[in-house]
Formats: sequence, C-alpha cells, structure tokens
Amino acid sequence: MDSKPHNKLHIYFLPMMSPGHMIPMVDMARIFAGRGVKATLILTPLNAILVSKTIERDRDLGLEIIIRLINFPSAEVGLPEDIENHSSITSPEMSKKMYKAKELLQQPVEKLLEEDFPDCLVADMMFPWASDVATKRGIPRLVFHGTSACALHVNHILNQQKPYKNIESDSEVFVLPDLPNKITMTRRQLPDYMRDGTENHLTKLMEKITESVVTSYGVVINSFRELEPAYSELYSKLIGRKVWHVGPVSLCNRDNEDKSCKGSKISLSGHECLTWLDSKKPNSVLYVCFGSLSYFSNVQLLEIAMGLENSGQEFIWVVRKEKKTKEEEGWDEWLPEGFEKRLDGKGFIIRGWAPQVLILDHAAIGGFMTHCGWNSMLEGVTAGVPLITWPLFAEQFYNEKLVTDILRIGVGVGSQEWCRWPDESKIFVKRKDIEKAVVQLMVGEEAEENRSRARALGEMAKKAVQKGGSSYNYLSALLEELKLNSN
Ligand code: UDP
Repeated sequence: MDSKPHNKLHIYFLPMMSPGHMIPMVDMARIFAGRGVKATLILTPLNAILVSKTIERDRDLGLEIIIRLINFPSAEVGLPEDIENHSSITSPEMSKKMYKAKELLQQPVEKLLEEDFPDCLVADMMFPWASDVATKRGIPRLVFHGTSACALHVNHILNQQKPYKNIESDSEVFVLPDLPNKITMTRRQLPDYMRDGTENHLTKLMEKITESVVTSYGVVINSFRELEPAYSELYSKLIGRKVWHVGPVSLCNRDNEDKSCKGSKISLSGHECLTWLDSKKPNSVLYVCFGSLSYFSNVQLLEIAMGLENSGQEFIWVVRKEKKTKEEEGWDEWLPEGFEKRLDGKGFIIRGWAPQVLILDHAAIGGFMTHCGWNSMLEGVTAGVPLITWPLFAEQFYNEKLVTDILRIGVGVGSQEWCRWPDESKIFVKRKDIEKAVVQLMVGEEAEENRSRARALGEMAKKAVQKGGSSYNYLSALLEELKLNSN
C-alpha cells in the first residue's frame, strides 16, 4: 500500500443504525472535523439521507467531513429493503435480524479501511468486530457506547458480581456493591437477558462487546466529566482503558436548522409546536417524549393521557403514531373521548418526530418526562430542565438512578419493570402515579430545587465544551495522542 498522503489526522466513524447512537456519533464526527481532523462517516444509504444536509452544510463551512456508503444487507437477513434503522423495527423477530445484519457489515467496513489511510476507527459498541478490524489495519479502535460512564460502570458491576443472584424474589430490593453512591434496584428492573441467566444471542453479543472494549484503545463518551467524575474514573479502572468525555455533543448544533434536521423528518405538528410554545410562560410546559424506539400499548397510552390531563399542567406529548380516521385500523382509540378538544391550548400532541433539542431549549419548557435514553437525558440536562424518569428498557434504569439518586434533578414516575416489547393489555404505570409525578416536578418548593440544580448542571455542560472546558480539553488530549501514534 502507498504511504499516507497527508499529515492531517484521518478518523473513520462507524455509527450504529439507531437515532440514539447515530445522532451523537454524527455530531461527534462533526466536532472532530471542527478541530482539524479529516472525518469520514460510514453510513448505509437510507441513514445517510437523514444526515447528508447537515454534513453538506458543514462542508460548505470548510470542514473536511465526508460520507462513505456501504450497503445494508436487508435482503440477506430477511428484512424489508426500506428498513436500515432500529427505529423502524416493530417486533423481536425483526430486531434479531437487525443484529444479524450488523454482523454482516464487517467485510464491507474492512474493505473501506483497506482502500484508505485512516489513523483511527471510532466504532459503536454494537460492532464488537471493529476492534479486530482496526488491529488488522494497524490502527487504534475507540469504542462509543452511546451512554454514560455511570451506566457503563453499573452494568459492569452487575455482570461481574451478579448481586441479583442471591435474593429471594424479583421485587426484592438489593444494593449495588462497590459504588460511590448507594444505589438500589430490583431484579425486575434488569434486562431480561441478564435476569434469565440463560445464554442467548444477546448475552453472547454482550460478552463479545465486553471483550472488544478490553482490546480497544479506549472509550469516547458523550457526557462531560463534571456530571459523573467518580464513575468516569471507576469505569476506566475497571476496563483498564482510558476514557474521554467529549460531550454533550448536541451542543455543536448552533442554529435551528442544525438542531432539528437529523434523526428523522420532523412532523408537521413538530414544527407547529414551537409557535405554540412561544405563547406560553417560562417553565410552564412539560415535554413528554420517550425516544425513538419505545412502544406503548393503547391501554398504557390512555393512562398517560389521563395522568397528564388530571395533573392540570400544560404539556407537549410526542406519540409515535400517525393520525388515523375512525375507519382505519389503529385509529386514536388510545385517546380518551374528547381529549384533544378539552385540552385545546393546554396540551399539544406531536405525532411522529419532534425537534427535541429545539423544544428543550425553549424557555417555556419547565420539565421533561423521559424514558431515560442517554441522549434525551443529556439533552435535558444540557437545557437545564428537571426530569420525570420513566425507564423502559436497555440501560435506562441505571440512567434513572443518576437523575433521581445522584444528581437529584428529578422524580421517578415509579417504573418497576424492564420490558422491551410490552403486552397489549398491560399497564406498567398508572394514571395516578403519572399525575403525582407531573405535579411534583412542575409545582412547589421541591420543583424549584430540582430546577435550580438542573439549571446549574446545564451551565456546567455548556462550559465543558467551550475552549478550555473539560470536554474540549479531553478532545485536545485525545487528538494529540492519536497524532503521536500515527507518526
Ligand atoms: N429524538 C428526536 N425527536 C423525537 C424522538 C427522539 O429528536 O421525536 C432524538 C432525541 O433528541 C435523541 C434521540 O432521538 O437525540 C433518542 O435517543 P435516546 O438515547 O434518548 O433514546 P433511544 O431512542 O435510543 O431510546
């Protein structure tokens, strides 16, 4: 192979095909490019469409950032050809095929790296083979998990020490060992693949991910050190690898277009809600959104609607459902009779994709009910908004603890059970608990205390990414190290 054509660091980024992983990694690549790196994003065609406008705008501003395409093997794994992203997955069977597809990407990625002169590969955790691919190419691999150091550490402790094994029942509370804070959980709040204790495709994947982290060069985290200093150190020690906190990466989006044009196409109601918010008083509206993957049964949606209405608070509620007529299958049977009419001016439903970062930044937003997906949580923290936590699955129950027990910037709604694909007839959280949490977060002395702690964290987050801030400095150090390695 010819020698490297120029001295600029050239870093490849391989994001996982899901909004919660792709949005932050694309932002990360843009931040690296803003610091003088040549950044190449590896994307599949339909995912590239979601971010190409943003990347073009960056290129117009002089950043060296490009997209290289690889095909998504939909047909090979038996998925419809218009599905390349986890947000379109609607069943556990499809989800399994999606995991298979990600395994098949190893060869095309390997080929791309062989044809080029990269200095480093930043790859999502969900591609454990990326550490081997990078080693073969003679370059370092950095892992991106898409979550906090706190969640990563807690997950490690659970895997290593299995404190959930020696308890009587799924609802018995146990203390997580060896942590700087007292954190308690129940077995019901743990991922099903963990509590089952049997080997399956997910437990095997998790083992491979753990191995690939240990053989990687280190871990880049979309978080800022001040948010979780103790966990950052503990996690780094535990894996024997360096970690770099370079976030919140969403802060690289400076104007409204940048803040709203990734992830998916904003729905019409998503645009309209911003004008609606302009008419509201500061801190008066609760924003309710459960990320890009969550699924709720109609009976649970009805409970949410009633809980919100009974709270008497103003709200924006994002629902991943399209408007249907009564004649169509799946029409609005999840909405109480006359709900929208009754709450006209008081509640706003967004059907489809919301411009979340823009909404959270609006002065009228006074709280955020979230599923504790890491990006949503961090976007809420960055906007200085207190949170109502309603974890559903993935590592969301660990993230909840950071909000309620460690940072104390929110209240829990009382979610007790980890569940990826809920039963149509099951209610996980009742309307009275939703109402209680909403009132507790939005009104009174405790609400003000939560809000003021959240605001302080929001300020810290903004400082972290400015020149001289902790995330800025972490990135400088990482780039220096990579430069030394590449010479
Ligand atoms: N998001 C958005 N509009 C929506 C839903 C989600 O912009 O209507 C964005 C949100 O801002 C975040 C990402 O999608 O950046 C979701 O990631 P998160 O980690 O919060 O949750 P996940 O979707 O992975 O469960």
